[in-house]
Order: sequence, then structure tokens, then C-alpha cells
Amino acid sequence: MQCTKCGNKAIIRISYANLLLCSIHFWEWFEQRVERTVKKYRMLEGSRVVAVAVSGGKDSTTLLHVLHKLSSTHGFEVIGINIDLGIDVGTRYSSLSTEFAIKNFEALGVKYRVVKLQEEYGFTIDEAKVKVRRPVCSTCGLVKRYVMERAGKEVGADTLATGHNLNDVAQFVMSGYHSGDVSNLARLRAVSPAENGYLKKIKPLFLSYEREITTYALTKGIPFIMDSCPHNLRVGGPTGDKLRRILEETEDQIPGFMFRLVENFEDRVRPFFEDLPKFNLGKCKVCGMPTNMDREICSFCAVRSRLLEGKRGAVAK
Ligand code: SF4
Ligand code: ZN
Ligand code: ZN
Repeated sequence: MQCTKCGNKAIIRISYANLLLCSIHFWEWFEQRVERTVKKYRMLEGSRVVAVAVSGGKDSTTLLHVLHKLSSTHGFEVIGINIDLGIDVGTRYSSLSTEFAIKNFEALGVKYRVVKLQEEYGFTIDEAKVKVRRPVCSTCGLVKRYVMERAGKEVGADTLATGHNLNDVAQFVMSGYHSGDVSNLARLRAVSPAENGYLKKIKPLFLSYEREITTYALTKGIPFIMDSCPHNLRVGGPTGDKLRRILEETEDQIPGFMFRLVENFEDRVRPFFEDLPKFNLGKCKVCGMPTNMDREICSFCAVRSRLLEGKRGAVAK
């Protein structure tokens, strides 16, 4: 297997682009793909400080490295954010994830902030799994979105970047079509502009396959946690899992299928959702963060107060 560009030993086949690439040419190709995505969707237009949400896994650590590389030519600063979720019962999953995130922040010399859920908010995701009557990944997702938004603002960022990859987004699109949950699909955006008190959100890897990201991280020697979260039930439960497998099998048969599904969704389908009525947002009476007008207290504060009930000495932030 020889690299299409230089004839050296190829390390990856990109079937949908009809390419075989050696490590050097793959890195170049991968970074250009991310840069083209960022430019096409104007992700960094007006961004000065980009907070990168780094869990310590392959996607977010790769995102950190690529955005750090782009930061000098595109004139923005990168700040890393990690949340220690407190998923440690029987494992050291969260502690290890945070260690990997810090390793990357320090190797690149970027500023960073680690939010320890237990210390700053008085609870852990392990506790939420036991005490909150909703699937743990749903609570965890809510907590991560809230804490990232808040930490992003605290470090002075105007933009928050997350490492969702193409396979994640393709699964989300298919789940949305399958369930007919239009409001969920309408919220799926490569770029969510800063509005209603929220930071701008961007997904620079949303057109990069999981397999390409893993290859980039491994061949570049980026340190990342390989273990999965012990609570790992893929988003969407067993149906979501099957949809993902079907998508990946279809990709094998029709190279580029997921890419076109997601790119066409973003470019041609989602614009039809622009006219859907938007939520009216107010301010949470407890924390002051944006919340749906129908609610006085945001979902995060509601979950947190349930978790802190009965805990002595818990101080509301
Ligand atoms: Fe959180 Fe679920 Fe992901 Fe674990 S698998 S980190 S609980 S969302
Ligand atoms: Zn080559
Ligand atoms: Zn609140």
C-alpha cells in the first residue's frame, strides 16, 4: 500500500476520496479538512478566545491540537476546559480523563481550567446515577453543557468548541429522522451563534470520521484515554447503538455516505428549520444563567438541588 501523493508506505485508505496516505500526507490532509470546515461554516469569524472542551478522549484532544495549530494563523487564543465529573466508583475514569486532558494542555502550553464537579458544585455523576431518576447520560449531558458554558464565560471565551465527530452527528441526524423529533434536529448545528446570553458553539470535527480522528491521534502520539466511561450507554440507548452500526455498515458499502448525510443535512435540510419558533429565554433565579421562560429555575439547578437535598453544609453557588 503506497501513498498516492509520495509513494511512501501508506497508513490509511480514505475510500471516499480515493486516497491512500502516508502519515505525513494524512496529517496534512486531515488538518486541511478541519480548516476547510472551519472556513466554510465561518466558525471562527469574530472569535478571539476559543474555549475547547477537552474530556481527555481522542476526539477532544485531537480538536485541541488542531485548533492550537490553527490559532496562530487565524489569530485567536485557545483555552482548555476539562470537567472532573467524579465517575470514579470502581474505576479511576474521571481522574484519568482529567490527567490526560492536563497532559495535553501542558504539552501545548495552553491556559486551562479544570472544573471539579464535587468541589465546585457539591455532587458527582456517580451520585447522580443513583439519586436522579433519569438516565445517567442524560443528567451528565445536561451537567456538561451547563458547566462548559459557565466555565467558558469565566475564562473569558467568546466561543466554545466541542469534539463531536461525523459518526456522532450522523447518528444524531438518523435518530432525529427516525423519531421525528424535529425540535431536536433543529438544534443540531455546526455553528450556534452567540445569542440569548449563550456563547457561540462550534463543532470543527463534524465532517471528520471517527476512524480518521483515531488515526490522527495515534500516529501523532497525542496522549488520550482509551477506556470508555463505565456508564457508557451510547446516546439514544440500544436503538441509537443499532442506528450507528447500520450507518457504519452502510459506509462500508457506500464510501462517503455519512459525510454526505451530515453535510447535506447542514447545508440543505437544516435551513428549513430556521423559521421554527425559538424558545423565549429568561434568567435562572438561582444561578442567573439563561433558562426557558416557562421555568424559574434552570434544569441544572433543579437537578443540583435534588442532589444536595439532605447533604449537610452544601453551599449554593
Ligand atoms: Fe457522561 Fe454517559 Fe458519557 Fe459517561 S457515557 S461521560 S455518564 S455522558
Ligand atoms: Zn505521502
Ligand atoms: Zn440555574
